[in-house]
Amino acid sequence: MQLNLVLLAALLVAATTTPTFAQHDHDHAHHQHAHVHGVAKLDVAVDGGNLSLHLESPLEGVLGFEHAPRSDKERATVAEMRKKFADAGKLFAPTTAAQCRLKSVQVEAPSLDAKPVAGQKAAAEHADLDADFLFICTQPAKLTGLDVRLFQAFPNLRRVEAQVVTGKGQKAVRLSSKMRFLSW
Ligand SMILES: [Zn+2]
Repeated sequence: MQLNLVLLAALLVAATTTPTFAQHDHDHAHHQHAHVHGVAKLDVAVDGGNLSLHLESPLEGVLGFEHAPRSDKERATVAEMRKKFADAGKLFAPTTAAQCRLKSVQVEAPSLDAKPVAGQKAAAEHADLDADFLFICTQPAKLTGLDVRLFQAFPNLRRVEAQVVTGKGQKAVRLSSKMRFLSW
C-alpha cells in the first residue's frame, strides 16, 4: 500500500511537470492500463463448493512481451502460455482434501489479436491478460487454502497481490515464490 502511494505521488508529479507526456497518456487511455511489471493480482472467491479465481497480469509477466506476436518464436510463446493456463490445475492447487477439480478456464488478452498499426510504437504500449478459473470442490468444508504455483510457470512474475473472499470474511496477502501458499 505504501509503495502504491509512492507510485501515485510519482505519477502525479510526472503528470503536472510534463504536460506533453500527460497528453500522450490521455490519448491512449482506453488501450493502456496502469500496471507494474512482475506484479499480478489474484482475486479468490470461495462460495460453497465453488472456488473462483480471477487473475490479472501484465502480459510481460506471463509472456515477456505485450504485443501481438510478430515472429514464430513469439507465436510459440503465446501458444505455450495458453497451454499453461488451460492446464490450470498445475498452476493452482487447492487443499487436496477438498477434492476440487478444474471446471472452466477463460483467458482474455485482446492485444494479442490486435493487428499491427503502421507507425505505431508498440514498445510504448502496455497490455494485460485477464483469466478466470473455476474449480468445483466436493468437500468444501475442507477447503482452507490454495498453493499458487504461478511463479514456477511464469518466472517473470515476482509478486502476486492476492485478495481472498470467503463466507468468513476477506483478507489480502502478498505472495512470492518463497511465500506462495494462500490460506484462509
Ligand atoms: Zn507493461
